[in-house]
Amino acid sequence: MHRAQERARSGLIAPEDVLDDAIAALPTPSSVRPVLNATGVVVHTNLGRAPLSDVAVEAVVGAAGYTDLEFDLHTGRRGPRGAGTADALRALLPEGTEALVVNNGAAALLLAVTALAGADREVVVSRGELVEIGDGFRLPDLMTASGSRLHEVGTTNRTTRNDYAAAVGPRTGAIVKIHPSNFRVEGFTGGVGVPDLVELGVPVVVDIGSGLLAPDPALPDEPDATSALRAGAALVTASGDKLLGGPQAGLVLGDPTLVEQLRRHPMARALRVDKLTLAALEATLRGGPAPVTAYRTADPAALLRRTELLAEQVGGRVRRHDGVVGGGGAPGVRLPGWAVAVPAALAGPLRTGTPSVVGQVEAGELLLDLRCVPEGSDVDLATAVLAAVASSGS
Ligand SMILES: *Cc1c(COP(=O)(O)O)cnc(C)c1O
Repeated sequence: MHRAQERARSGLIAPEDVLDDAIAALPTPSSVRPVLNATGVVVHTNLGRAPLSDVAVEAVVGAAGYTDLEFDLHTGRRGPRGAGTADALRALLPEGTEALVVNNGAAALLLAVTALAGADREVVVSRGELVEIGDGFRLPDLMTASGSRLHEVGTTNRTTRNDYAAAVGPRTGAIVKIHPSNFRVEGFTGGVGVPDLVELGVPVVVDIGSGLLAPDPALPDEPDATSALRAGAALVTASGDKLLGGPQAGLVLGDPTLVEQLRRHPMARALRVDKLTLAALEATLRGGPAPVTAYRTADPAALLRRTELLAEQVGGRVRRHDGVVGGGGAPGVRLPGWAVAVPAALAGPLRTGTPSVVGQVEAGELLLDLRCVPEGSDVDLATAVLAAVASSGS
């Protein structure tokens, strides 16, 4: 309360907002602390990936108690779990697509490979797509955890249609095509598109990673579910909390018979999501643009105005700073913007302050980029910097 009164006296907030401000500053009931993401990295895995939209948060709150998760309120009988979320996905995808939601992107791929290949069949995959996705986890290890054998084809930089054709046989359960999202191979490279793989006559599973449901002209190299399904993919797998901007979830999209086969697989029960995830994902899909989309496409002029104001309030310097998509997506894409540069010594106090602020230390300066800070939190960020300056005695 004292801090809120101080903020009102110094003109940072209006006097009538003192109570709301004081409530917002109360400690959270769990050890998961909210953070102001001033890094300019839109999908920041260490900071919890996608922030939920207001409607998604509302949906989570609404689903927190007893719900009709698996209950039909009209008949009073058991109902299908997650039907509304699957409907919302289907509405955004080509006609005839079925959808299943699981725990995360890795779970979606594991379930697809387990159900289509399992212990007695092979998965054909290009050597150029055997990627590590972070924290030491590697997709080839994930796929072999299903019990299937990986039949690797091609080389790191080039794989041809003939490589795949020579590998496909009676033991093939699926061809898996993975989008190597977090790095780029440049120069003498070559891969095989989904339509050519489909011609080989076995189910093609495409792991697009980022969860774009339709093509986005701003991200020309990022694969999307609609294009992969139109190209003939039997199944598409993706994450819910990258470019889709929803909660942690994995999507399995595609052929209704195969999706049903996955839904009935015993492993599906171990990978299923809870009501909070289903509610947040459906609200994300039905609501307007998710925060990650708004941040990714933020108007540079508006960002500059906010950045200049912050610099003025905290006595920092405005400099150019590019944001990135992050989360292992669109590694070559820069998002032009700005940051306020303040002394690097403020990084520690800002991280541990309230609210926590995480920026990027670069060449002896701490850069605070407002791209991924909700505009309504600019004042909190300014206050946090002033408090860090005061506490560090600089
Ligand atoms: C991120 C990613 C995954 C893993 O998804 P999670 O939701 O983190 O489990 C798998 N494949 C690709 C291509 C990815 O980009």
